[in-house]
Amino acid sequence: MSRDHAPSMCLLHGAFHTMAPDCWRLAADWYFRHADLDDDTGRAIYQAAVEAHMLDQLRHDRTLPESENPTTVDPTTCPTPGCTFPKKASQYLCPGCWYTLQPAARRALSRRDDLAVRRLAELREQLRQDTALRQVVITP
Ligand SMILES: [Zn+2]
Ligand SMILES: [Zn+2]
Repeated sequence: MSRDHAPSMCLLHGAFHTMAPDCWRLAADWYFRHADLDDDTGRAIYQAAVEAHMLDQLRHDRTLPESENPTTVDPTTCPTPGCTFPKKASQYLCPGCWYTLQPAARRALSRRDDLAVRRLAELREQLRQDTALRQVVITP
């Protein structure tokens, strides 16, 4: 019951919301098709897929520049310009870049709620503008 009312990452709508039966069906299908993945990896890739979908929608709302095309972003490459370190699909940055952020920015980016994608978009926009990691400020 709480499962039906707590908001979840929805792959069908690319949203963090209270899932309807169709939403759960798609999520279950996805996990079924990816049953070869272990739980953590499966969750991480599912989450990355939903976030890519959300970013895609933001881009269509023209709140993100056209150059930002999440469907071509490799989820295992650190998005910091010039950084060549790998990262996990579930992480926004490689560990070195992550710990270069100010603690307040890290705390903000670690929160998972309906503003999480706005925060990620802010981070990516600042990286795109070559903002130094220490200067990155996350507002929502
Ligand atoms: Zn949904
Ligand atoms: Zn990095």
